[in-house]
Amino acid sequence: MQSDFCTNFARGDFSALASSFELAGFNVQQPLAGVVQICEDGETASARMRLLISVGVHGDETAPIEMMALLLEELAKTPQQLAVDLMVMVGNIDAIAQAKRFIDVDLNRLFTPQRTQFNNAQEAQRADQLMHAATQFFDGHQNKWHLDLHTAIRASFYPTFAIVPGKHNPAFVSWLGSAGIAAAVLNPQASVTFSSYTCKHLGAVSCTAELGRIGEMGKNDLSQFVATQAALAALLRSGLSATENTDTAPLVFRVAQELIKRSEAFQLTFDGNTQNFTEFAPNALIATDGELTYVVGAEPEYVLFPNPSVRVGLRAGLMVVRAVE
Ligand SMILES: [Zn+2]
Repeated sequence: MQSDFCTNFARGDFSALASSFELAGFNVQQPLAGVVQICEDGETASARMRLLISVGVHGDETAPIEMMALLLEELAKTPQQLAVDLMVMVGNIDAIAQAKRFIDVDLNRLFTPQRTQFNNAQEAQRADQLMHAATQFFDGHQNKWHLDLHTAIRASFYPTFAIVPGKHNPAFVSWLGSAGIAAAVLNPQASVTFSSYTCKHLGAVSCTAELGRIGEMGKNDLSQFVATQAALAALLRSGLSATENTDTAPLVFRVAQELIKRSEAFQLTFDGNTQNFTEFAPNALIATDGELTYVVGAEPEYVLFPNPSVRVGLRAGLMVVRAVE
């Protein structure tokens, strides 16, 4: 059953949340539809951790929306426990309302200041708004994290995994493990996703976390994400003081190559429904695009997000290898 709080949250209506934290003396701002910022009130910039959590960047990925609604509804009962400066974003509100992944184009391919493609799409304006709000939130602060919470379209050998942009940060990867993330994929190359933007341009420690599979709002089985939910609840209430648990270290991968769809001739050599982290042998042909071929390198590669039906110019899949630690 979906609570009223969750229904309102998914629409970007934070009124109940805002009033609870305002009454407790926090500085609450709603700079945009679907964006709420709850900070310690004071003249000087707070030394607290700045935590940005985004959900619903893909409108059909509902489990993280439900999970965050539950966590915030609970926290709002004892608002003084909030130990971080928090910004929460509900990404693609219009797509969520229509239970669609996006309206015109995938929002999570538009987070780049140099964007020229798709500037007329409805999502382009939203990407600009979210980049601006994140910049305002992080500007001038040191200790800043961005967790962009998603769910995967297809099944995965690791039902919870994260793409981690930027320099390898073992402490963050370890935290992800304690948050129930089974596999961490390091991607030092800049990309056009939201977490890559906040890492590269705003200096945040960030990730795109994939929590299970797409499901209908109100019908997700959140029991799969108990560890994630508990870790987020602890992060909200104690910042980073929680102890790390090395027993839960995730498997670490790194991106070997991106499969870019350069023309309508793009074809995968395997079924587009293949599970995430399916292994391909060295030298195997994985995709063709006219004359262009994509081949596995000298070590086994594992596929992520295969999707040959993306628009020309966009990523149709990611190949990763095990990282040596
Ligand atoms: Zn997503």
